[in-house]
Amino acid sequence: MLKLYNTLTRKKEAFHPLDAANVRVYVCGPTVYDFAHIGNARPVIVFDVLYRLLRHIYGPDHVTYVRNITDVDDKINARAAQDYPDLKLNEAIRLVTTKTTDQFHADMKALGALEPNVEPRATEHIEQMKAMIEALVENGCAYVAEDHVLFHVAAMKDYGKLSRRSLDEMIAGARVEVAPFKKDPMDFVLWKPSKPGEPSWASPAGIETPGRPGWHIECSAMAKAHLGQTFDIHGGGIDLVFPHHENEIAQSRCANRTKIMAQVWMHNGFLQVEGEKMAKSAGNFVTVHELLETSNFGGSDWPGEAIRFAMLKTHYRQPLDWTLVGLNEAHKTLWEWYGDLEGKETAPGVPGPVLEALMDDLNTPKVITELHKLHSAGHWGHLRTALNFLGFSGERTKIGRIASAAGKARIGSSTEAVGERIAARNAARAAKDFKEADRIRGELEAMGIVLKDAKDPKTGELVTTWEVAR
Ligand SMILES: [Zn+2]
Repeated sequence: MLKLYNTLTRKKEAFHPLDAANVRVYVCGPTVYDFAHIGNARPVIVFDVLYRLLRHIYGPDHVTYVRNITDVDDKINARAAQDYPDLKLNEAIRLVTTKTTDQFHADMKALGALEPNVEPRATEHIEQMKAMIEALVENGCAYVAEDHVLFHVAAMKDYGKLSRRSLDEMIAGARVEVAPFKKDPMDFVLWKPSKPGEPSWASPAGIETPGRPGWHIECSAMAKAHLGQTFDIHGGGIDLVFPHHENEIAQSRCANRTKIMAQVWMHNGFLQVEGEKMAKSAGNFVTVHELLETSNFGGSDWPGEAIRFAMLKTHYRQPLDWTLVGLNEAHKTLWEWYGDLEGKETAPGVPGPVLEALMDDLNTPKVITELHKLHSAGHWGHLRTALNFLGFSGERTKIGRIASAAGKARIGSSTEAVGERIAARNAARAAKDFKEADRIRGELEAMGIVLKDAKDPKTGELVTTWEVAR
């Protein structure tokens, strides 16, 4: 029996779909203005595993997975104006969103993620958003003020049920815009006026100035359009619980007059890089494209399968620390397994212990333990089947790194540079900073350099030698 942790109840619960003939899942997708970073890739990989599992349980034709594209947003407008100052804003926006969406698709494909069944775009659902906004105004859950439409939080008795925050926390968390026309500081925007030149549509609720939707209403309208008023699972990153998902629930339930929007709310944990919060200002911002196509992270490019495997080593609800050591280990494991799998066929049926671990709230660390067991036992057919089921090719040709220019540069790295890194590692060890020492060793491994530690028999001192990995 499939069990999933539900953020709404804070419990792991048995999953019973509303309609087993059509299990419906919605996951918040990207705002297309920039390269996807590895934090964006996490929910895509996590919910891809869920999608594969649901298809296995209910049949591939009985699952509908919707992941949207947010293609109207202030960040998109800003990026378009910055990148294409000579074009009309709407043309520039089209270039930015098309380019970014294509890149997103290519990146996620490389990470082994299946395409969702439907990938709705916000700009193609403006009419549905307006209809929902009109319904909310009509039934008193929203009001018009200074060409905006605002959701009136006080109109919904159990607002805040998902995030379980106090009003003060919610106000702080929402980074509430204080606007004099709001009835209540918590009230949020459903529709707002556009400035001249910005994308705009005829406004709902009798507003004359053209405008555009707020972010939250997009997902409510697109989920309804493709999955109906209520559905099974809504997913996204933990950072979306408040205010985004709280507000989606408020809009959908109040507009549709339903007790729920989705039965189960699933959220993946935060991701940080080498123990630090990822931020452009911190210089540790890692995009999927960079990992796949450049040597910016650890002096090497990385196959999508290694990235996927490294992600799945951590349970989806736990915070994930993205490290070079972890990524390199993931690659090493796959390289070893795929070598052993050469010439071996799949065996029928996904192995029971792998499925059991997945059924237990997508326990992928346990799944990986089971894969290691299959490998140690030499159960090649079952290992290959399980890997394929989880989105891995099992083919070394798909995960080679040395063939790339970045890989060649790595092998050619000078003796001097390696010596400097070894000295830095030894200094870290002497200072008992083993985390840093491991990090440097991982960095060298990623460059194709294997270290060997030994004690000098005469002095007892640690001597480190190295060689190029074969
Ligand atoms: Zn959303």
